[in-house]
Amino acid sequence: MAKIAFLGLGAMGSRMARSLIAAGHEMTVWNRSAALARALADHGAMIASSPRAAATGADIVIAMLRDDQASRSVWLDDDDGALAGMSAGALAIECSTLTVAWARELAGAVHKAGHSFLDAPVVGSRPQAEGRQLIFLAGGAASDVERATPFFSAMGQATHHVGGNGCGSAVKLAVNALFAIQVAGMAELITMLKADGVDITRAVEVIGATPVASVAAKGAAASMLAGNFAPMFPVELVAKDLDYVASAVAAGRNRAPLSAATRLAMGEAIAKGFGNDNLTGVVRIYN
Ligand code: NAP
Repeated sequence: MAKIAFLGLGAMGSRMARSLIAAGHEMTVWNRSAALARALADHGAMIASSPRAAATGADIVIAMLRDDQASRSVWLDDDDGALAGMSAGALAIECSTLTVAWARELAGAVHKAGHSFLDAPVVGSRPQAEGRQLIFLAGGAASDVERATPFFSAMGQATHHVGGNGCGSAVKLAVNALFAIQVAGMAELITMLKADGVDITRAVEVIGATPVASVAAKGAAASMLAGNFAPMFPVELVAKDLDYVASAVAAGRNRAPLSAATRLAMGEAIAKGFGNDNLTGVVRIYN
């Protein structure tokens, strides 16, 4: 069994860390807010006082943090950063959803220090993290993906190696953009159909039975009709990911008008106080 350090114990990270403990690994955790780390101690984890202390002696260091800024400070802080504590031969894995540019910059810093690095963001939300059904999109060397796969298997149902460092983040952002565009589209169409005086439950049932309806669109419609916006993948995080899509698109001197329009809808939801809703709460901007 491996010695694992897990950094970031929010909605996703806490569940992923628990899966690794259940698989029998020796776990040391760190979280910025100490209360969330203490909750993991009840599951058998040791608590570290800093990312650096957590990483010291670990075979694998995994992070699941909000964004680029959190990732940068947790890995690279001069005094407390995880990289400074990593042992020779250790593997760093970033599971957070990050910009492609930052994933590559971090990979460079980890390699320069003599360690291995994977960006391996996940598809799936809180229920999939809870049920070990996540899908890992790994960017890095094939040998590192092979090394990490048993750990990913303890947390998920599939691992896809999609290219070198940064490619996992690129594919993840594409998945989230496709998801968010469909959800925002469904919100707008449900609102339009209601205004047309159509029986909305029947309309959604019929649309859902056509070949154009995806699993994601059908799930979003069900959530919107039920008025169930309990956070799984909150609007705030979707907006962050769409900003990251925009930065990748700008770096490639390209355009992404659908992602940009979806970001505007998510921004309006945040401005109206729905930022902590599940992303399907975007339908509330039309009420
Ligand atoms: P979350 O519940 O908000 O947790 C965020 C984590 O990041 C917490 O541990 C938080 O620490 C930490 N953090 C935030 N800012 C920090 C900073 N400046 N320094 C250090 N730590 C910081 O988010 P989540 O839902 O677990 O998502 C985590 C990552 O997975 C994100 O990149 C998200 O986009 C991605 N993701 C989410 C989902 C989903 O459905 N929720 C699905 C797939 C991927 P504190 O507890 O101290 O605030």
